[in-house]
Amino acid sequence: MKTKDFMENYIIIKELDDEEIIKELRRWYSTNITECSLCNKMILTKEAVEYNNKEFIKRICKRCYEKELENSENENELNNETEIEKRLERLKNLIKVLEIEVSDGKLLRLISMEYKDVDILNADFIKLFQKYKNEADKEIKFILPFENEIENLLING
Ligand SMILES: [Zn+2]
Repeated sequence: MKTKDFMENYIIIKELDDEEIIKELRRWYSTNITECSLCNKMILTKEAVEYNNKEFIKRICKRCYEKELENSENENELNNETEIEKRLERLKNLIKVLEIEVSDGKLLRLISMEYKDVDILNADFIKLFQKYKNEADKEIKFILPFENEIENLLING
């Protein structure tokens, strides 16, 4: 381990005899060096990153930390994608039962506009959406109320 910290320390202790040097080195090592719990590389304790991995806190090196961050981001993205795919399949099956014609692309657009399944699974809703599909999302959201809003209108109306 050739780091500036180590060399500085070494210059101070090199006057000591061998046994003491070893003792000093061990002491320096145990207070300044940590093992990365992922790649097992020896790293300077002050450069170790505390990584909170849901269940426990690990002390890891910067490289592993960056890798971990990247992995967890990819994982989230994948989860989102499969969630949307599952929802699309479910919607398509239910829409078939209702005998409504609507393409995957339009369903995905409605999902991305944050409409809920209860909103989408409604023949009148889909008809309105088809009619206004060329409008901007903002306009459509104005024209096609969300289920909650319809309920609110009924309650307050
Ligand atoms: Zn590491």
